[in-house]
Amino acid sequence: MTLTAFPPLAPGSTIGVLGGGQLGRMMAMAAARLGFDVAVLDPEPDAPAHRLAAEAIVAAYDDPAALTRLASLADVITFEFENVPAAALELLTSQGAPVAPNGRALAIAQDRLDEKRFLNDAGAPTVAFAEVNGPADIRAALEKLGRPLLIKTRRGGYDGKGQVWIEHTEEAEAVFAEIGARPAIAEAPADFRRELSVVAARGRDGEIALYPLAENHHEGGILRRTAAPAQVGPRVLAQAERIAATLLAALDYVGVLAVELFERDDGRLLVNEFAPRVHNSGHWTLDGCEVDQFEQHIRAIAGWPLGPTHPIARVEMTNLIGAEVGEWARLAAEPETRLWLYGKAEARPSRKMGHVNRLTPLRG
Ligand code: AMP
Repeated sequence: MTLTAFPPLAPGSTIGVLGGGQLGRMMAMAAARLGFDVAVLDPEPDAPAHRLAAEAIVAAYDDPAALTRLASLADVITFEFENVPAAALELLTSQGAPVAPNGRALAIAQDRLDEKRFLNDAGAPTVAFAEVNGPADIRAALEKLGRPLLIKTRRGGYDGKGQVWIEHTEEAEAVFAEIGARPAIAEAPADFRRELSVVAARGRDGEIALYPLAENHHEGGILRRTAAPAQVGPRVLAQAERIAATLLAALDYVGVLAVELFERDDGRLLVNEFAPRVHNSGHWTLDGCEVDQFEQHIRAIAGWPLGPTHPIARVEMTNLIGAEVGEWARLAAEPETRLWLYGKAEARPSRKMGHVNRLTPLRG
């Protein structure tokens, strides 16, 4: 059954979420605001979203009994975690459970090579790239695309993991070993001036809403800071809007989608990747927009009208990574700072433990 065949979900309905991390937790908070319950499936018993869920299913993502339970409870199912096995969504769909966004969007986003090919076919520009299945392919890519190149595993990488720069042909064997000798992609450098992202949503009826662009700063491959709305000219804005609208339509997408962009010196935008879910670079909307990305996602998948995306403040969002979360008392005392903590017990290095949104009034 297609999603559009369902009437809008009434308050009191249950939203199933695959993945119980902070994104699932903030989705659950938004769902509660609109009168929905959530059922969460995550293998970790103390996952951040489990504690907010009406039903916490502690099981592997490919556990057929757990997926059947989720399908029986939920009126619509979504995911907050990109590495959900595609087979899990197929099993849910085969049981008649509506899933949004659809499995195709997830499958494409899970494979960097398929994703780049899809983006180019859809008319969204990317860096030049080549398929890599061994050191010989890396050597050929260095010949064809120039140097340096960034070698990324096709699947499973996130936050800069599984990525290595290569400059010299002689390093091909070592670099391929370093990424785990797995199928990979070679990418030309993006030569970007800034990293931007656009968070957009598409409703079940095809209605589209876009948030203002965000400017993102990474450290060690992890998002550190987002400033939004980003200062961008009309040309950049028009490109971002066209890219987001094209992808939402090409994927027949329902829900929130994030597109990571590189802005080059000449003002051209390239797409780095898209995330078929709510996104860290959209956390500023929690305090900076009338309806935030989490509520927008719930509205979209529930078949409700999309909410307004106007900014109501300028926001600088900073992730609290690892031990930084220990600063919570000082941060909570800052008057223009909104503190979001994810309820994770152990502050391991590189782990996203929370974020702060620092607000300033919009100019003009
Ligand atoms: P990704 O995992 O693809 O989102 O990459 C993580 C970060 O690595 C990006 O946010 C960029 O800062 C950087 N990066 C990724 N791809 C490229 C590229 N082709 N050229 C330059 N920097 C890149």
